[in-house]
Amino acid sequence: MLVNMQEILKDAEEKKYAIGCINTPNVEAIRAIIGAAEELNVPIIIDHAEVHDPLIPIESIGPKMVEYAKLAKVPVCVHLDHGTDYNFIMRAIRCGFSSIMYDCSALPFEENVEKLQVFTRVAHNLGLTVEAELGIMSSTEEDSHGGKPLTREDIRKSFTDPKQAAEFAARTGVDALAVCFGTMHGIYAEEPQLDIDRVKAIRAAMPKDCRVVMHGGSGVDADQVRAAISAGCSKINYYSYMAKATSRHIYQKLNAVNGNAFYHEIQEEAYHFMKTYIKDVLTVFKNGK
Ligand SMILES: [Zn+2]
Repeated sequence: MLVNMQEILKDAEEKKYAIGCINTPNVEAIRAIIGAAEELNVPIIIDHAEVHDPLIPIESIGPKMVEYAKLAKVPVCVHLDHGTDYNFIMRAIRCGFSSIMYDCSALPFEENVEKLQVFTRVAHNLGLTVEAELGIMSSTEEDSHGGKPLTREDIRKSFTDPKQAAEFAARTGVDALAVCFGTMHGIYAEEPQLDIDRVKAIRAAMPKDCRVVMHGGSGVDADQVRAAISAGCSKINYYSYMAKATSRHIYQKLNAVNGNAFYHEIQEEAYHFMKTYIKDVLTVFKNGK
């Protein structure tokens, strides 16, 4: 069943679990992520990142994502991840996406507010939900967003201010806000240390119907993830570590048979591996529920 974010995040927030939001740049990933969610009977968000478009255009993968979402036994939100370009966002809407992240976090606060105010009004009229970002979500060197290696100290400088988050959410009406409290995109150079008190402060300050989002959720240990969920984080973006682990698994499998495999067997192996991997991740996100 295809849904937007509001239809699933309210229950997550009330019951203190988090919904996974996972990039699906190929059909194996779509099947694996939705399959894992169905087996655990949890809602799920699948997303296409603007930075993955050179890999596969949204017009190729987007309709597949929507089709699989409609056929799923659990609620599935089809979301655009880090849309920065208006034309690209329009392409996502044409493909039938139910939710859009419009990332203007690189702009000054007032400009970020103005852009999201206008967009959210239009999107809500179309029945779509909107995510924005406040504070700069850093990227590690090894990430498709690009970036440079950062220390924990560097990350701390771009932490989101709870008061600003509250003002931003109230003025824009966005449904979800990606905030910075210690995570980064990509593969971590240094073990991340989350500022859980900041999550609590942001949750307490923001309007109730705007949800707190963690990006860069892969690579964070399970205890910190659960602490962030209990503190009020109800959507977690996850991808890099799953993608790397899948490659390592395929490498081992191919080594074991000296590379002698049909390509479709590799695809199937990747699907089964990702499904098992994501089931473990989603079990952590359930936070004991
Ligand atoms: Zn992100």
